Amino acid sequence: ELHDWHRALRDQFPIVTGHPDQAYLDSAATSQKPRAVLDTVQRYLTTANANAGRGTYTWANATTALVDRTRTRVARFLGDPAPRQRSGVHFVSGATEGLRAVARDWLPHHLRDGDEIIVPFADHEANALPWLEARQLLADRGVRVTVRELPYDPASQDYDHRALARLVTERTAFVAATHVHHVYGADMNVHRIRAAVGPEVPICLDAAQSVGHLPVDVGTLDVDFVVFSGHKALALPGTGAVWARNTRGPAFTPGGWAGTPNTAGIASLEAALDWLDAAGPDRIRRWNSALAARLTDGLRTLAPYEVLGCQRSLAADSEVQRREGIVTFRHRGIGSNDLGFILASHGLMVRADGHCQARAGESESSVRVSLHVYNSPEEVDLLLSVLRGL
Ligand code: PMP
Repeated sequence: ELHDWHRALRDQFPIVTGHPDQAYLDSAATSQKPRAVLDTVQRYLTTANANAGRGTYTWANATTALVDRTRTRVARFLGDPAPRQRSGVHFVSGATEGLRAVARDWLPHHLRDGDEIIVPFADHEANALPWLEARQLLADRGVRVTVRELPYDPASQDYDHRALARLVTERTAFVAATHVHHVYGADMNVHRIRAAVGPEVPICLDAAQSVGHLPVDVGTLDVDFVVFSGHKALALPGTGAVWARNTRGPAFTPGGWAGTPNTAGIASLEAALDWLDAAGPDRIRRWNSALAARLTDGLRTLAPYEVLGCQRSLAADSEVQRREGIVTFRHRGIGSNDLGFILASHGLMVRADGHCQARAGESESSVRVSLHVYNSPEEVDLLLSVLRGL
């Protein structure tokens, strides 16, 4: 049943069906786009392309309506039951720009001298560097802020929520975290962060690897910011959004963004979220983690390979350590760059070498396979058979 569902979806990706000898296995970097998204962009650009918010004529009004509607669409997709009461959605070019906007345009208005913030360093650097820049910006104005590391437990590939609870003081004013790890594919159990830090502390969630891959619900997660890249969620390059709850601390009103929005990108985002909702984020999650489990199980039978972050059982639906569609590994004898080239010569597109981790550790030289709804078990088996031959 899941297989029929999958075949119908896979057939909707022209770049996939058009290249039967290639397997795209780098969706954590960016995703491929279904025909509905491509058609929507084509239709928008050939029927209503104009700037937003300046309208005396139909095309401008249609574009303004598109931007407003997509704000609400993003909020609804994230489970915000009352979009645009207090909460807001701001379009950005991707998670990097979104996290920087929170760090630059909100955090300095929120923090006071002597406050403490807790941020991750074992995650993507886009979720570490902006917070350090914000501390520097404030220091230049004579406001001292202490940055602590969000405790991470390499053995479980999760945050150490107990250590986090011990780190929290009455000066803790902000926490940044990641929903799904971009190297290990681990679901970081972020609902436990709220429990650890208490009801008052704003939490900013880097959802770059979760939105579009699994259900993301701001009600259950009780976070204050959700930042994601639309281009990793089937929309065009140069798309992304920041959802802000706006109830803990000042409202998020990013400045200096009076320029022309990426309207074709916003049209693609609306179409992508419609497509994802119809496909079912939970089914997409099950598909991707089943493929990841198939790959992990296969790699474990091959002696030269070491799967990173895999000390414990990775049963696809283990509650403690759920594995989403990302698997990172290395060969004990072949360098990861070489491995990447070898795989490319077989039409297998993977990410080799470092992975933008803020504190590069064991992942420094490795190969990452990241899956999405258009990937098939046959592609995973082909990858395994090539790896077996090395
Ligand atoms: N955070 C995480 C967890 C990511 O995986 C990525 C993309 N590699 C980013 C942030 C940055 O996203 P973007 O390149 O779209 O700005």
